[in-house]
Amino acid sequence: MRPKYSLIIPVYNEEETLPEMYLRVRAVMDQLDGDVELILVNDGSRDRSLAFLRDLHEKDPRVCYLSFARNFGHQIAVTAGLNFVRGDAIIILDADLQDPPELIPALVEQWKQGYQVVYAQRTQRHKESWIKRLPAYIFYRLMRRLADVDIPLDTGDFCLMDRRVVDVLNSMPERNRYIRGLRSWVGLQQTSIHFERDPRFAGEVKYTFRKSLSLAANGLVTFSRVPLRLSTYVGLLAAVVAVVMAILVLYWRLFVPNSPLTGFATIMIAVFFLGAVQLVSIGILGEYVGRIYEEVKGRPLYVLSEVAGFAEELTNKRL
Ligand code: UDP
Ligand code: MG
Repeated sequence: MRPKYSLIIPVYNEEETLPEMYLRVRAVMDQLDGDVELILVNDGSRDRSLAFLRDLHEKDPRVCYLSFARNFGHQIAVTAGLNFVRGDAIIILDADLQDPPELIPALVEQWKQGYQVVYAQRTQRHKESWIKRLPAYIFYRLMRRLADVDIPLDTGDFCLMDRRVVDVLNSMPERNRYIRGLRSWVGLQQTSIHFERDPRFAGEVKYTFRKSLSLAANGLVTFSRVPLRLSTYVGLLAAVVAVVMAILVLYWRLFVPNSPLTGFATIMIAVFFLGAVQLVSIGILGEYVGRIYEEVKGRPLYVLSEVAGFAEELTNKRL
């Protein structure tokens, strides 16, 4: 039987990269041994990306697209794509050609060997500034220690997933979606291939520092409860210090003549330190509570404004 492949590409203000991206992806699509659908998800672009997608859909019936009513973020764009896929093997890649489409046959190869998830692991990041690389390096290693699931180092969303994995992902109701974490959570047979990450083909990085930070916080908070325990640990430590201090102070007061307890500086430091610890703890707590709040509200993950290439009933259901 000929397998069916689905490619998902999130697009946010990528007018400069789209033409080249399509050429390179099409070359790979033509080379695969089955039918391919290319699902482009327009994440509320403000440039001419959507016009380009419309055009592509006209010219190439294998191209379908979803368009969001506003910018909902990369992880949500990928999630929407996953909701609509019809293939047996689903491949996620970035629009900026940092994830080389030419690697797709290698991913497919592993899938045919029986793996349900084949993720691409970066061995090098070409020409990305250390401002991006260093925090990423630290974050992936921190996650590795703290997260409940084993999330492989230096992997992004570039991967191939079997239909079964995507069905599980689609059944997950959560709004705070850290896809590379959820993907690991599913389990089954997973393997990796290695690649060198190219620089962005054109245009500016769409993941601003703020967006990257929020993705990192999301990953950490949704996959680890260690930060919550931190305040307990610091609290216990502070209690021990308090007992030791109390004994010391009493001893000085009672048995040391002319005791050195002048105090102002010590008290100020203690007050500020403990105040800081408490505020940070409340902040950490807030990260969790805020996410609970979002989950409880149960709003839809995204709002679509336009859909093309999907059967009528599917379109109506989701729009
Ligand atoms: N992207 C998106 N919504 C956003 C930000 C980014 O759909 O709010 C898409 C973007 O078009 C690209 C991918 O996510 O296809 C990765 O973005 P980028 O290359 O800026 O991030 P980086 O490669 O630095 O992680
Ligand atoms: Mg990129």
